[in-house]
Amino acid sequence: MVGAETKTKYQAITRENIARSAVWSRLSRDLQEAVRVVSVVLPFRTNNYVVDELIDWDRIPEDPIFQLTFPQRGMLSEDQYAEIAPLVLGGAPQEQVTAVANRIRLDLGPHPAGQLTHNRPYLDGERLDGVQHKYRETVLFFPSQGQTCHAYCTFCFRWPQFIGVPELKFASNDVDKLVCYLRRHPEVTDVLLTGGDPMVMNARHLAAYVEPLLGPGLDHILNIRIGTKAVAYWPHRFVTDRDAGDVLRLFEKVVATGRQLALMGHYSHPVELSTPIAQEAVRRIRGTGANIRMQSPVVRHVNDDPDVWAELWRTGVRLGLIPYYMFVERDTGPRRYFELPLVRVWEIYREAYNRVSGLGRNVRGPSMSAFPGKVRILGVTSVHGTPVFILDYLQARKPELVRIPFFAKYDSRATWFDELEPAFPSDRPFFSEQPRAVFDNLIELTA
Ligand SMILES: *Cc1c(COP(=O)(O)O)cnc(C)c1O
Ligand code: SF4
Repeated sequence: MVGAETKTKYQAITRENIARSAVWSRLSRDLQEAVRVVSVVLPFRTNNYVVDELIDWDRIPEDPIFQLTFPQRGMLSEDQYAEIAPLVLGGAPQEQVTAVANRIRLDLGPHPAGQLTHNRPYLDGERLDGVQHKYRETVLFFPSQGQTCHAYCTFCFRWPQFIGVPELKFASNDVDKLVCYLRRHPEVTDVLLTGGDPMVMNARHLAAYVEPLLGPGLDHILNIRIGTKAVAYWPHRFVTDRDAGDVLRLFEKVVATGRQLALMGHYSHPVELSTPIAQEAVRRIRGTGANIRMQSPVVRHVNDDPDVWAELWRTGVRLGLIPYYMFVERDTGPRRYFELPLVRVWEIYREAYNRVSGLGRNVRGPSMSAFPGKVRILGVTSVHGTPVFILDYLQARKPELVRIPFFAKYDSRATWFDELEPAFPSDRPFFSEQPRAVFDNLIELTA
């Protein structure tokens, strides 16, 4: 385990410093241009570990982790690229570049309306910031110091948080209010800290959010969950970072209260589990009594291949991880670049599922986090000659809809729930008329 024990210092690689980093000379001129231009619109951040150990530079630009973290030309439309590239490359004034970048960002969504109006719980008539309560048992909390990541995924729809659009700021440092809310809600069993990535916080900040959840009046909180990509992008967080030991002791403390500490690990590709440090992080986390679950979306260019998923689940299960959700990529951001037809996502799920033992088959999906709930694609069939998708809700705003199969008209090109229509009149109750709330569902990609 010598390699894993060697201290590595975290170095962010961003738009500001990439041209001075060793990475720059590994990029062709075209890729350099794409990085310069696209990173004006979409946030870009990677780090020395991702670059040195996860990306295979002989395989760029196709390498999955390169696609996952480096801006690509195709993430903007031809028109968008043609509009902004000459400004960036020609050294246009900053205000002009920013104005065009902001307009393109608006075109890419997301729209804040839903986030601000739905799922925001109230305490004594006052709306709670940084808290979402959509499904009965689970409350989400967005700690304000945990709203960035060790690297940014190019498909991520939370990027307005990273570029600091103020009306999209959605975080809180008021854990006391969260505790008051939870005391009055005995139906809640799970608290999920999310972001961004809460594991970017130092151990002291993290403890300030976690320890109050172990206090009096909260015996009904059985599971503390932390959504994180650090296990993949910066496993040193749990091994060699200065306060790695404090983080692990915090996990032990939660477990000692009789609760489950569940890391909702965001793993997109098996290479993220291939390094000694990533495996050592898993061992140390599990050594505290915590569990790690695996979840992520199917993303074109990154993991749209059943073999990739089968290997991810197989390796994960061997290391003691629990396959949990496979998601459909959300309908925001550079979605055209990443999205896949629902039928293709379902085929990938099915083929991958078929290649692993039962220990890997508890993974659920493919699931779309839509306004009315988490909609699973159960399959494609035909009812009295009508081709249909069979769907069900794994989670729903209206709990009475959960796990009842229903049908949508088959559509070979549909990529999201809002493009589907009820197949039969009896399916209408499953298709909510309510507005789509993009930020509703921040979570499931979790981190
Ligand atoms: C996915 C999600 C959860 C967690 O759901 P589980 O099925 O318990 O993992 C909680 N809240 C929201 C809003 C979600 O999207
Ligand atoms: S929030 Fe998750 S998906 Fe988004 S950039 Fe961070 S790690 Fe990636």
